[in-house]
Amino acid sequence: THSWDREAIQLMQPLIPRETVLFIADAKISFDSFRSGMVATVNSKSIITVNPGVPKKVPFKYTCMLLFWSAVESITDVYTVSQLMQKARENPEALFGITYSFISKLDLDSSASKVIKTRCSKCKFLVTEDLNSCTNQLCPGKGQIVSATTGFDLLVDFTDHTGTLHACSLRSPVAEKALGCTVKEFISLTDGERTAMKWKFLLERCKIYVKIIPSPKMKSGIRGMVLDCSLADPGEVNLGSKHLQICTS
Ligand SMILES: [Zn+2]
Repeated sequence: THSWDREAIQLMQPLIPRETVLFIADAKISFDSFRSGMVATVNSKSIITVNPGVPKKVPFKYTCMLLFWSAVESITDVYTVSQLMQKARENPEALFGITYSFISKLDLDSSASKVIKTRCSKCKFLVTEDLNSCTNQLCPGKGQIVSATTGFDLLVDFTDHTGTLHACSLRSPVAEKALGCTVKEFISLTDGERTAMKWKFLLERCKIYVKIIPSPKMKSGIRGMVLDCSLADPGEVNLGSKHLQICTS
């Protein structure tokens, strides 16, 4: 929890899309494959000026969506697993929610190549080490030397008394934070230590922030992404009785 996150979120709330002009110094600009566009990410070093003395009508060549590291703070709706799946199927856009569930599948002790993967930094497609270019035809960096990032890349299942959500992606940096371990540290762990790490989470009730998007490729029709995961505080456990409205991105 950083104060600048809250400050930035408060600053953004009254802004009018395609009307307010933001001057942002020191933002990270990157391609977001999920949104299929460029996104700017601000951090504590970013300086944001609202409407910095510009004419009222500015021709917008680019529109920019701002992401916050702690976007999870804005997610407050608690669901059971079956409510999450049902809501997500009814919702054509992304559904964000919290679920208190058990992680019922976490393959930390399979081969490291199944836990840690290398993806193109520009489009997040998987890159194999022997390739020096991205194979995604739509990659914005197509034809260039690939710049790749290596990180945790897991598929986890989570289960509560209402059902199981299968194959949710748990990737870096969320996975590092959840597991309390960097990729470098993980590589140096023994098999026994990996198994111990797995059992720290497996069948323990966790508080999981999840984003679910429609995915025709999946048998379930939906695809989940873990945005944050931590062992649930026993006093905080909520079985999803207060399922509220749907948030969209
Ligand atoms: Zn690519």
